[in-house]
Amino acid sequence: LFVPQRLEQGAHVALDGPQAHYLARVMRVAAGDGVILCDNQTGEWAARVVEAGKRDAVLEVAELLRGREAVPDFWLCAALLKKDRFDLVLEKASELGVARFVPVLTRRCVADKLNPERARAILTEAAEQCARTALPELGPVTKLDALLRDWPAERALFFADEQGGEPAAAAFAAHTGPAALLIGPEGGFDDAERAAIRAHPAARPVSLGPRILRGETAAIAAIALWMGVAGD
Ligand code: SAM
Repeated sequence: LFVPQRLEQGAHVALDGPQAHYLARVMRVAAGDGVILCDNQTGEWAARVVEAGKRDAVLEVAELLRGREAVPDFWLCAALLKKDRFDLVLEKASELGVARFVPVLTRRCVADKLNPERARAILTEAAEQCARTALPELGPVTKLDALLRDWPAERALFFADEQGGEPAAAAFAAHTGPAALLIGPEGGFDDAERAAIRAHPAARPVSLGPRILRGETAAIAAIALWMGVAGD
């Protein structure tokens, strides 16, 4: 479980709400049981249940199991998709190890807003399920023109473009340094957006093959490629 407080040996952690409910109802923990806690700062700790009620629990931190992982410095900038598909991208991006998730608003986005608390909960649950010790950051919903305007010059922006680009695997394997992937919405980028992206000095158009993939497919496939060839 990820907890907001910084963990140290002997500290007591009080949980309430969904986390306490999860421990009591799903994990059915009792006093003396072991639980693994992460604080997204120091790493992953073994903890012991001191008391567990239906709505609250107190745990005592024991020993450090693993330090906070060094996450590949890879961002996913994904155009908002319809809710359930975007939820899938959030979950898989967290499992696959992205460091930062930036929801992007483009002219053809069907969805135009995101509930950040809900998105953060999806990222966190996926991170807990796959035993990450570092949570992905969630950026604010950012319009494409602002994303390009304020883009950090040192970070490569791999632009997944179904209209063509370098083969993604080769481009990823040859790249060193910070990077990001930009994925469009269900209706794709319009001509003006595509031109603006391609004109950006950090943009590197990449292809994921000859077929038109759904945005969520392109995102998941490209991140897995990245982690496979340039991950650690
Ligand atoms: N313009 C597409 C069409 O003609 O139907 C719709 C966009 S596609 C559903 C969603 C996004 O997935 C695209 O904007 C692009 O970022 C990515 N994508 C899809 N297929 C791709 C491919 N073969 N190579 C690279 N990116 C791809």
